[in-house]
Amino acid sequence: VGHWARATIADAEASVAIARAAFPKWRDTPVDGRAAILERAADLMESRRFELNSLLILEAGKPWSEADADITEAIDFCRFYAVEMRKLAKPVVTQRVPGEHCSQVWIPRGVGTVIAPWNFPLAILTGLTVAPLVAGNTIVMKPAEQTSVIGATLMEILTEAGVPAGVVNFVPGYGEDVGAHLVAHKDVDFIAFTGSRAVGCKIWETAGSTQLGQTNLKKVVCEMGGKNALVIDNDADLDEAIPAALYSAFGFSGQKCSALSRLIVLDEVYDRFVERFVSACSSYPVGDPALPGTLIGPVIDSDAQKKILGMIGAGRREARLAWQGEAPANGYFVPPTVFIDVKPDHTIAREEIFGPVVAILRAKNLDEAFAMVNGTDYALTGGLFSRSPRALERAKNELLVGNLYLNRGITGAIVERHPFGGFKMSGGGTKAGGKEYLQNFLFPRAIVENVMRRGFTPPEEG
Ligand code: NAD
Repeated sequence: VGHWARATIADAEASVAIARAAFPKWRDTPVDGRAAILERAADLMESRRFELNSLLILEAGKPWSEADADITEAIDFCRFYAVEMRKLAKPVVTQRVPGEHCSQVWIPRGVGTVIAPWNFPLAILTGLTVAPLVAGNTIVMKPAEQTSVIGATLMEILTEAGVPAGVVNFVPGYGEDVGAHLVAHKDVDFIAFTGSRAVGCKIWETAGSTQLGQTNLKKVVCEMGGKNALVIDNDADLDEAIPAALYSAFGFSGQKCSALSRLIVLDEVYDRFVERFVSACSSYPVGDPALPGTLIGPVIDSDAQKKILGMIGAGRREARLAWQGEAPANGYFVPPTVFIDVKPDHTIAREEIFGPVVAILRAKNLDEAFAMVNGTDYALTGGLFSRSPRALERAKNELLVGNLYLNRGITGAIVERHPFGGFKMSGGGTKAGGKEYLQNFLFPRAIVENVMRRGFTPPEEG
């Protein structure tokens, strides 16, 4: 697919120094100019759509429709953040009082480290980069090692769109060395991270320890994993619930932070639902993502394959295997798998699997189902299929997840329409693609002027 050079600690050091030097000029570049660069980047992505699609299919193993959705999201991020930054750049009058003009303005934080995952290799890397960029910050951009060619292509697009030299610095490298160094660096003012809980918590901790010579408290935008559940009520429309659940669980082989991994089915409908769900599973073809009919491709690498197969092993010991698909022998494939009779304390009901594995749990009633949904460390996505307005209303109040979906699938958030992100161990409550997102990369300032002037300074004679 491509080649990339592995950045060293010295490269990381140099990139922070370059980003720091480029900051004052970029900060003072008018917002319109910065926003126009994002819009040009969006246009370039449109014009290179097929090439980008092929890279996403070949480097990340995304099926066709998933690859194209990734590009669409990247384009949406560029256009949305450009629009939002133009709005945010206008000073806001905080209160009107005679004699005093009071306003609030936003200024960029400085230099940011962007650390992205491989699972939305273009969309997430783009979102994490262009949001702080349009806000006037300079960036050191580290893609996931598995998808660095896509990262390099984004760098190429941003450069062609007009990002000046030194403003975004591409540092492809490994998380444990270069990534960790960029997080801890005293001259880095914020970190925009999306990835696993283990790494996110480590970054949060490192950023909290202030170093000699550091001038800003580090802000961390931290989006992590999930253990997402969908509740099937007794009166749910199964014709709708089954395809929605299938796609939420198996789309991109379950390698989405939003993916469905727990199906919580109410007692009365449990047997009927399980029978229909299991018989529908084999309609999802597993195979080479380069073929347009494939819906479930390989997982990202051998480590992921081993980890997921290990979780399937745990599932076999704890619960009952209801169905397992066939997976090609060559390549990092994992057979899509469904377990039934899973209990809330089983490993497969608690830990993020990040693969095509679904745990089905039985609940006596909605109280028990909702308690199960909320009973994990995570709070990312979740949902309910029900025809009862009262149950839907209860879900709105009681299902504590960042993105709640009612009578639809629980993946596929759209920029602006569905601001995305969770809380608890899923993240810091920041919403990618939401109206407040840019504020994470800015400091607010209040400016107060006494306008009860007594006399004035005449212009100098000259
Ligand atoms: P990961 O945490 O292994 O890696 C993410 C990034 O962190 C990579 O760029 C990696 O190189 C870097 N990294 C690794 N160790 C580091 C360290 N010590 N210091 C600094 N950086 C380090 O995650 P992944 O496997 O790439 O992505 C999958 C995970 O991401 C899943 O848990 C998924 O749920 C989560 N995710 C969350 C969201 C969300 O919006 N909440 C979106 C997508 C993915």
